Amino acid sequence: MEYHSVQTTCPYCGVGCNLELQVVDGRLSGVLPAKGHPAGEGKLCIKGWNAHSFVHHPDRLTTPLIKREGELREASWDEALALVSQRLTRIRDEHGPDSIGVLSSAKCTNEENYVLQKFARAVVGTNNIDHCARL
Ligand code: SF4
Repeated sequence: MEYHSVQTTCPYCGVGCNLELQVVDGRLSGVLPAKGHPAGEGKLCIKGWNAHSFVHHPDRLTTPLIKREGELREASWDEALALVSQRLTRIRDEHGPDSIGVLSSAKCTNEENYVLQKFARAVVGTNNIDHCARL
């Protein structure tokens, strides 16, 4: 049996508790609190203790889906991102940048939220960017 742990940030809220992910034979099996970290001080709430449970869940989406002829079908990331880019460009060109709004998530890291607001402002050209913790 091969075991190691990986320290990371809890994905569930902005408190930012640190987790020690327990990995057994390459498979995530549980979570322990990171004792020395200042955010959680060795404690987790119930969401943090179960933060690993979605990773191997059979209902988890692991590939993009594109609706064609009324049915969702699996697609590659390149195909999905090309479609999103094409549609957002068309909407922006026809209706202006402020016709698009972008919502981020408390489950994202600060770095991911930074990149998303940069995308909204510098690429799309809108200040319509918000975050689910404020909704
Ligand atoms: S363990 Fe609970 S309080 Fe800490 S970051 Fe996760 S959800 Fe938030």
